Amino acid sequence: MDHEYWMEQALSLADRAESKSEIPVGAIVVLDNEIIGQGYNAPISNVDPTAHAEIQAIRSACNRVGNYRLPGSRLYVTLEPCSMCAGAIVHARIAQLIYGAVEPKSGVVCSQHQFFSEAFLNHKVDIVGGVLAEKASEKLSGFFQYRRKQKNAQENGLIGSFFDFIINNIDSLLASLHCLVLKYGQIPPNYS
Ligand code: ZN
Repeated sequence: MDHEYWMEQALSLADRAESKSEIPVGAIVVLDNEIIGQGYNAPISNVDPTAHAEIQAIRSACNRVGNYRLPGSRLYVTLEPCSMCAGAIVHARIAQLIYGAVEPKSGVVCSQHQFFSEAFLNHKVDIVGGVLAEKASEKLSGFFQYRRKQKNAQENGLIGSFFDFIINNIDSLLASLHCLVLKYGQIPPNYS
């Protein structure tokens, strides 16, 4: 089975992140052509900043095999890992990292940094990038587009409901204004 086959599995996990309104990123850990761990991005719903897809997948794989290290395994993730996940990949002794789309803002494989080439690392990870990258980035941009639309609708909704309030309450607003004019518009008798 090739990289694209496994990346499809990671992409379907990204959909599960999206269904929880999380940024759609999915990951799996494969050992001997078998999925031993899977995860999807869930920091908001889990109230856990470390709940990135890679960390979730590594945790589930470690639990499954009963080892804090995963020698000989491959990690598939739909998006270029961040610094936290890159560190965890080395700690877990993952043999090969296969990722999809690049993450220009926080990716540390090639975008912001080349973490895995650091000389101080005592474990080397083999890297394959760009597997089903288009599919992964389409999913991400679709998600952000949808979120922007939702935000705009909410903002327009607020302005809309303000005008609705004015129109619906114009009579009582005019009445209140009339009362104010009556109250303060009159000059008190002792000042005249
Ligand atoms: Zn991460």
